[in-house]
Amino acid sequence: MSEPTIFELSKPDRIGVRLPKLDIPLQTSPIPPNYLRKSLPIPEIHELDVVRHYTRLSIMNHHVDKEMYPLGSCTMKYNPKINEELARLPGFCQLHPLSPANAMQGALQLMWELEEALKIVTGFSAVSLQPAAGAQGEFVGLLLMRAYHKSRGRSPKKIIIPDSAHGTNPASITLAGFEVLQLPSTHEGLVNVEELKKVVDENVAGLMITNPNTLGLFEKHIVEISSIIHSVDGLMYMDGANLNAIVGIVKPFDMGFDICHLNLHKTFSTPHGGGGPGSGPVCCRKDLEKFLPVPRIVHTNGKFDLNWHEKDSIGKVHTFFGNFGVFVRALCYIRMNGKEGLKKNSQMAVLNANYIRCKLQEYYDLPYPTKCMHEVVFSGDRQKKYGVRTLDIAKRLLDFGFHAPTVYFPLIVHEAIMIEPTETESLQTLDRFIEVMQIIAEEAQTNAELVVSAPTKTPVSRLNEALAAKLLDVSYPLE
Ligand SMILES: *Cc1c(COP(=O)(O)O)cnc(C)c1O
Repeated sequence: MSEPTIFELSKPDRIGVRLPKLDIPLQTSPIPPNYLRKSLPIPEIHELDVVRHYTRLSIMNHHVDKEMYPLGSCTMKYNPKINEELARLPGFCQLHPLSPANAMQGALQLMWELEEALKIVTGFSAVSLQPAAGAQGEFVGLLLMRAYHKSRGRSPKKIIIPDSAHGTNPASITLAGFEVLQLPSTHEGLVNVEELKKVVDENVAGLMITNPNTLGLFEKHIVEISSIIHSVDGLMYMDGANLNAIVGIVKPFDMGFDICHLNLHKTFSTPHGGGGPGSGPVCCRKDLEKFLPVPRIVHTNGKFDLNWHEKDSIGKVHTFFGNFGVFVRALCYIRMNGKEGLKKNSQMAVLNANYIRCKLQEYYDLPYPTKCMHEVVFSGDRQKKYGVRTLDIAKRLLDFGFHAPTVYFPLIVHEAIMIEPTETESLQTLDRFIEVMQIIAEEAQTNAELVVSAPTKTPVSRLNEALAAKLLDVSYPLE
C-alpha cells in the first residue's frame, strides 16, 4: 500500500499565497507513470482568502470601474454591464460559427440590424462588420479604393494624410501597397486647403482623415476638401475613431466621404483595454458595395442568409463574421440610447472636453486655443522649463488614482497631453480630475522632484519598458 497523498504547504509566494505541494501516489493511478507529473501545485486555501486575493489583484490594476480613464483618441467610456449580460447569452456565445444560416437566424438578424443602424449613423448605404478593429477597417477601405480604381482602368498610387494622422493610417496605406503623401497642417491645426490643391493630381487615389481630427478640432473645410479630391476621381476615407463627437449631429456621407470605418469598441461601448477585442465595420457608398468582403448578410422574405457569391469582392478579411460579441454590445448600446440619446452623448462628450479645456488652460499650454470637440490637446512645454516632462505629469496622475491621459500624441504637439473625458464622467469626477491636474501643475513649479519621481503609491513604480521588451518574462513564479 502506498502512502496517502501528502499535502505540504510551500513558502508563501510574493503575493502571500501558500501553494500546497501535492505528491500523487503513482501506483493508484491508471495513467502510466511516465506521463504523470511528479508534483502538482493546487492552491489549498479557503474561499475568503481566494476572494481577497482576486480583489487585491483587481485593484492593483487600473480599470474604468475604479476611476476615470482620460485617454485621448482611445475612448475609454463606461461600458454598461447589461452589454456583458447580453453578449454572454448562451444562444449567442455558444453558437457554432459553422452553423447553417437557418440555425442562426437570431445572430444574423442582430448583425443585419446593426448594419442598418450604422447606415443611419453614417449616411452610407452598405456596411461590412468583418474588420476586427479600426486599423483593419482602414486596410479594408484602402483595398476598396484599389478595387474601385482598378475597375476604372486606373492605378493611382498616392494617399494623402495630414501630419496629425494616427499612426495606423500611414501603416495601413503602406500595407495596402499605396504611397503616403503627408500634408502639413495650418497654424489652426487643420488641413491646409491651398497646399492640398497644389499636391492633388491624377496620381492621388484618395485622402484619409479623421473628423474631428486628432487635435480634437473639426475640419470645417471638409466639403471643399472632398470636392478637390473628387475632382481627380480620388476617394475620401474617414477614419471614424473620433465619431464620438458627431454621432447624431453630422453624417460622414454628408461631409463628402465615400468610405469610413467605425470603431465599435470606442463609440458604441465595448471594454477594450489591453488591445482587444475590437470591431471596425466599414461603411461605403452604393457603387462600392460590390467590393466589400464576403459573406454579406442578406434579408429576403423575412429570412436572413449569407451571400458568399460576389465576384468583385476583395474577399474575406477575418475568420467567420468578425467579433460577434462586440456586435451584441454595440447594438445593445445603440438601442438603449436611441437616436436622441446618441446625439446627447456626443453633445455631452464635447461639453465635457470643453469644460476641462476652460478649467485647465490657465495651467497648461493650449497650442490650438479654440473650442474643441470631444478631446482636448494640451502641451507640457511650460512645465518642461521646471524639468518636468509630460511623461512625469502622466506618472504623477497615477498617484492620485487616475489613469494617465494619452501623451506624446499627436506628434505635431510638443509634449502633448491629450485628454478625452467622454460623456460618461460626472461633473464631480471631472472636477476631481481637474483639481488634480491643477495640483500637479503647481507641484511642477514648487516641487519638481516629487513629480519626476512619481508614481510612489502604485504597486510598482517606473518600469524599464525597453528592458522588459528585450528580456520578456511573462511566467509566474510558483515556487
Ligand atoms: C484608435 C484609433 C485608430 C485605430 O483603431 P483600432 O481600433 O485601435 O485599430 C485609428 N485612428 C484613430 C484616430 C484612432 O484614435
